[in-house]
Amino acid sequence: MLATMHGKEAAIVPAFQERLELTVETPSAIDTDALGTFTGEIPRAGTIREAAIAKARLGMAATGLSIGIASEGSYGPHPHVPFIPGGVELMVLVDDGRGIVVSEYLIDDAPVYEHVVAAEIGDLRTFLDHIRFPDHAVIVRPHEPDDGSVLIHKGLRTAEALESALETSTLRSRDNRALIQTDMRAHMNPTRMASIGRLARALCDRLATPCPACGAPGYGQIDVETGLPCEWCGAPSIMVRYQIFGCVACEFREMRPRPDGRTHADPGHCPECNP
Ligand SMILES: [Zn+2]
Ligand SMILES: [Zn+2]
Repeated sequence: MLATMHGKEAAIVPAFQERLELTVETPSAIDTDALGTFTGEIPRAGTIREAAIAKARLGMAATGLSIGIASEGSYGPHPHVPFIPGGVELMVLVDDGRGIVVSEYLIDDAPVYEHVVAAEIGDLRTFLDHIRFPDHAVIVRPHEPDDGSVLIHKGLRTAEALESALETSTLRSRDNRALIQTDMRAHMNPTRMASIGRLARALCDRLATPCPACGAPGYGQIDVETGLPCEWCGAPSIMVRYQIFGCVACEFREMRPRPDGRTHADPGHCPECNP
């Protein structure tokens, strides 16, 4: 079971079929937008993990199945690198039969996630080339909306639709300009859809890994511990020292060394040598 209404099944279903031989059913009548939308008409409550779990449960309730899958994305400033856009995609599998929630996430370093303010289509050439329009659709709305009813044009993929949306939106804006944003819904943003496909494959790999202690599915890395010793002075640095692996069903934990084999940190990452 998969709770989605944005065509994400195209990216998710094949991964589950090929890697886990799981059949995924997509419920037809679920309004996941009721849980919050990208365009901000309905604010999302809680963390993206909570939102994804709520979405999976919505699908489970609709289908009566005990396993649900859902994904959730969040786009904004890059979580680690200043001044560039970034995205976090998270996918969960909720299994009420086993009483577990298995989740996997990825950071999208190169999302197609941009916005611009403009008065007419002639101002948009660079922006549209940059976001690879019309493969990636846009949303248009008044930049400074007047007091009338909410006006928002979504999923625009033709120059004609874009032009007419700009016309109505600029008329309804106090500064006569429109806000043009990439439409981040998965079926409107192929770059995001591809990220969701990668994430689905990573979640399947995790699900295919049993806990060494209890055998529950979904064993994998859950955290890191920093403090790799400085190669000059031996003090704990900000670099990762161990990967922490854990089980979703029992308390089993395991500290693994870095996969790149590094045992000491560059003094540049040491708070003693390079404060
Ligand atoms: Zn040092
Ligand atoms: Zn376990």
